[in-house]
Amino acid sequence: METKLYDTSTTLIPMIGLRGIWIFPNMVMHFDVGREISKKSVEQAMLRDQRIFLSAQKDAMVENPEKDDIFEVGVIATIKQNIKLPNGNIRVLVEGECRARINKFTDKEEYFEVEVEELWPKEDYYLDREVEFDAIKRLCMADMEQYVYAKPDMPKEVLLNLMEIEDPGRFADLLVSYLMIEIDQYQEILEALDPYARLIRIHEIMVHELEVMNLENEINKKVKDNINKTQKEFYLKEQLNVIKSELGEAGADVDSDVEGYLEKISALPISDKSKDHLIKEANRLSYLSQGSPEVNVIRSYLDSVLDIPWGVYTEDKIDIEKSRDVLEKDHYGLKDVKERVLEYISVRKLKKDLKGSILCLVGPPGVGKTSIVKSVAESMNRNYVSMRLGGMGDESEIRGHRKTYVGAMPGRIVNSLINAESMNPVMLLDEIDKVSADYRADPASALLEVLDPNQNDQFQDRYLEIPLDLSQVMFVTTANTTSTIPRPLLDRMEVIRISGYTSEEKFHIAKNHLVKKQILEHGLKVSQLNIADTVIKKLINNYTREAGVRNLERQISKICRKAAMIIVEGKEEKVSVSLKNYKDFLGNELVMDDEIIKKPEVGVVTGLAWTEVGGELLQIEVNAMKGKGKIQLTGSLGDVMKESAMAAISYIRSGLEKYKIEDDFNEKTDLHVHVPEGATPKDGPSAGITITTGIISALTNKKVRQDVAMTGEVTIRGRVLAIGGLKEKALAANRYGIKEVIIPKANEKDIEDIPESIRKDMTFRPVSSVDEVLEIALEK
Ligand code: ADP
Repeated sequence: METKLYDTSTTLIPMIGLRGIWIFPNMVMHFDVGREISKKSVEQAMLRDQRIFLSAQKDAMVENPEKDDIFEVGVIATIKQNIKLPNGNIRVLVEGECRARINKFTDKEEYFEVEVEELWPKEDYYLDREVEFDAIKRLCMADMEQYVYAKPDMPKEVLLNLMEIEDPGRFADLLVSYLMIEIDQYQEILEALDPYARLIRIHEIMVHELEVMNLENEINKKVKDNINKTQKEFYLKEQLNVIKSELGEAGADVDSDVEGYLEKISALPISDKSKDHLIKEANRLSYLSQGSPEVNVIRSYLDSVLDIPWGVYTEDKIDIEKSRDVLEKDHYGLKDVKERVLEYISVRKLKKDLKGSILCLVGPPGVGKTSIVKSVAESMNRNYVSMRLGGMGDESEIRGHRKTYVGAMPGRIVNSLINAESMNPVMLLDEIDKVSADYRADPASALLEVLDPNQNDQFQDRYLEIPLDLSQVMFVTTANTTSTIPRPLLDRMEVIRISGYTSEEKFHIAKNHLVKKQILEHGLKVSQLNIADTVIKKLINNYTREAGVRNLERQISKICRKAAMIIVEGKEEKVSVSLKNYKDFLGNELVMDDEIIKKPEVGVVTGLAWTEVGGELLQIEVNAMKGKGKIQLTGSLGDVMKESAMAAISYIRSGLEKYKIEDDFNEKTDLHVHVPEGATPKDGPSAGITITTGIISALTNKKVRQDVAMTGEVTIRGRVLAIGGLKEKALAANRYGIKEVIIPKANEKDIEDIPESIRKDMTFRPVSSVDEVLEIALEK
């Protein structure tokens, strides 16, 4: 190969072993010569033709090298200058001429002398491989550009110098002289006699170098960033302290305050992300001036967050027998309801994740919905908290306002958790049927999120800003009716219905629960107050008229208050309330404005309605008077009830003859249908037969029996269709002392739901047509 690439010749020449430095042909450099043997070599060279052979020592540490310690390939250089230094060393300036390879060492002892083969590159040796050389030169050039770019202290002229060189070997030698690489690698390049192989090796070395340099830069940048950041913070804090002390503010106080918050925050069992957020807020306190309103905002924010019982979970103790005992102890009757609640708890015990439907207790006020939920919580060893949804018209009540709002607060869910003092309470959402949706924002959709087991472990309160895990909360809802609960909410819930109580049940509830409860609540002893059974019955029948026992409890509490006063005043030690003195405690019996007229009447019919507060008696009045066929409907009637009035009239007009009504009545007569007692709005089709009976009575002047009540939908062909809520209606009729009730034949099967005590006291008259209704209701 050498014969192809190089012209060679043999020379005898003095030599120096280089230690830790290197030289290439065409390169100028100076170095100091200290060793005697090397100084002698320089002297010899100066005596001859100033040429000297320079080759690296394999190990720079070797003081007196032998021939095996010297690399074979080195460079012949010309000594351009030599200066004696004061310390005895010689500084030489040399210029590399060509590569050379040692053939043999001569036996000179005072200096190294070698016989070398001079290797002079042939001219134009590269011309037949121009493309290959161009390619590799270009690669190396590109590497060098990056290298120069990455090393800011490297002059850009380097690139220009390289570009001017055409000979690939010289190009390689110059390039390598700019690099900062290992000594071994220089030797490797020197020994690469084929310039092409030399360039390939350089390219390899440079790719590796560049990679390392990039990595270095990256690491450096990170380190610098970190240093910069801490330094910046340090300076800013120092500046702040100076400013604060100039303003005469107590910086130390704030700092200890912030420390306190930071300590509490770091102890919270929450995610790192949430912690970071809180830490940032707390740190802001130390930057803000003490008087700034933001300080208070941040403080109340952090206080609210810290008030939340993060990580506090009560341990569930689910023992069905115990739960049954608790429910039984606190509640009379309600057999079905208790069973279903116990079933629900059992499922909870088996399925730990709590996913699944949410209980919804539906029924009139005062039937014990709330108190059952309390018992459930107690029996499971969970804390209890309740939250009223009634009338809530704004989503932010559930979700809170952003803390940037003036006077912003967390939403009610968060507040309830704070009140509950644990993250897994039984949370009662009361009156879920009264959540009003309006144009602003729909609270129902926020509620949906709260109740959805798939997303409520990341509940977002706007004020809180960090997610809250509601997945362990056991939600229970209550409602008076399911009809106004938004459909998507209703779909999530397992509805348990509780209907009203009979007088007998109320009596037991009062006697066994309410009286004792109220006595204790008023600070009395059970032995200090006695209420006679007859008085309790009076309370039920003459002082209240409701489906539940809420007012009954209120009346009992009224007695307790009076009794407490008597005892405190020292008038008596013990109070007894009997039929003799009950009016002193309760005042006059309620005068019912809807007291029923028991004598038969024209145009007055007793109907039964179902309302949110339970079953109700509904006395419909119809007047027929001279006029022009106008029909007027008054009272608090819903659309469905109006339609059923129209159906009644349509039916009557089709059967005038049968009822002996003048066929021109709708030209000469005005009809006025009135449904009194506007307080509770009434709707539904079940007053159909009542209205029909009223109108026929008014038009025919036949009297209607007042000791019979009725319920049923009417069609325009006079058929009677089924209705809902028969049990509630029967209870209402019973409360008013009505013993005979007309019901649709299709509802006959529902009679068995009605409590035995009422059934045996009443007659139910199933009918399937208006004719049958009239047969029973109109006086013969
Ligand atoms: P709701 O939530 O259905 O409106 P509450 O739970 O507030 O009704 O009940 C009102 C009062 O009546 C409470 O003091 C409750 O303990 C009592 N109460 C209701 N039903 C019963 C019952 N079956 N047995 C014992 N007490 C009852």
